[in-house]
Amino acid sequence: MKTVYVCQSCGHSTGRWVGKCIACDNWDTVVEEIAVKTSKRSISAPILIKTLSGSEIITPSRFLTGIEELDRVFGGGIVQGASILIGGEPGIGKSTLLLRIAANVVQLSSFECLYVSGEESLEQVSLRAKRLKINEPKIKLLSTVSLTDVVATIKENKSIKFLVIDSIQTMYDSRITSAPGTVTQVRTCAHELTILAKQYGISLLIVGHITKDGQIAGPKTLEHMVDTVLYFEGENSNQYRILRTIKNRFGPANEIGVFEMSEAGLVPVDNPSSLFLMAHDREVVGSAVFAGIEGSRPILMEVQALIAGTNMATQEGQ
Ligand SMILES: [Zn+2]
Repeated sequence: MKTVYVCQSCGHSTGRWVGKCIACDNWDTVVEEIAVKTSKRSISAPILIKTLSGSEIITPSRFLTGIEELDRVFGGGIVQGASILIGGEPGIGKSTLLLRIAANVVQLSSFECLYVSGEESLEQVSLRAKRLKINEPKIKLLSTVSLTDVVATIKENKSIKFLVIDSIQTMYDSRITSAPGTVTQVRTCAHELTILAKQYGISLLIVGHITKDGQIAGPKTLEHMVDTVLYFEGENSNQYRILRTIKNRFGPANEIGVFEMSEAGLVPVDNPSSLFLMAHDREVVGSAVFAGIEGSRPILMEVQALIAGTNMATQEGQ
């Protein structure tokens, strides 16, 4: 078996260990992994090629979530057969968001959803669903970290058209000896899953954890592999969350959806400008409203200058 050294931050691989990755300049991110053995390619029958003008254009069908803030971020609903990566820091509420999306999608379609949890037990997922008042028999739960289990389940159940992987860092392909969460495992599992999604016309939602210092392997190296990349952002200290489109093959990028994290789960904020504006009943000095564009809609924001008198001796400049 051949050993390679892979940067867990950017995926760059070298033949020997180095302290600093030459591709992304990060220190101490290079980890020893076993090279993946690829089977020899056999020559297959020639594939019929089409002409550019002769190809028929098929508009992809979409799953609607029924939540405007979500559907806009997805570019007008979730495209059937698309693979979507949702990245965010641990604990930000990704699992809550995913359960809400899954519940809404199955309610509005005739298909079933498979929710694969590699991090939590079935009891923990069920408990969260109960807290969010989601009781959907069309959401099937699978607690596993094995990629083979997921592939087998999808092949067995043709009514599943919506697949949630929570999270890609826990997924494990037994053909590869690297530990779960390493760049090789994360990339191979994501690649297999996206092929599976395309083959069976399944919409795939992959959860990827990222930390502020980018130490956990994964999402950044997956971005080119999937159709849509979303980032779920927010501070743990406040209740507002933003879902942002970074890349979308089926719609505009840079769209945002604003949500409020409440006891009952994520509640869409219909008018985000209201978060950034104070209600004044008269004209106030030192306050200006700024109109910015986020995606396809304007967002108003109030800038306030708060000045107070001082008793300190100040010196005027020359
Ligand atoms: Zn690197």
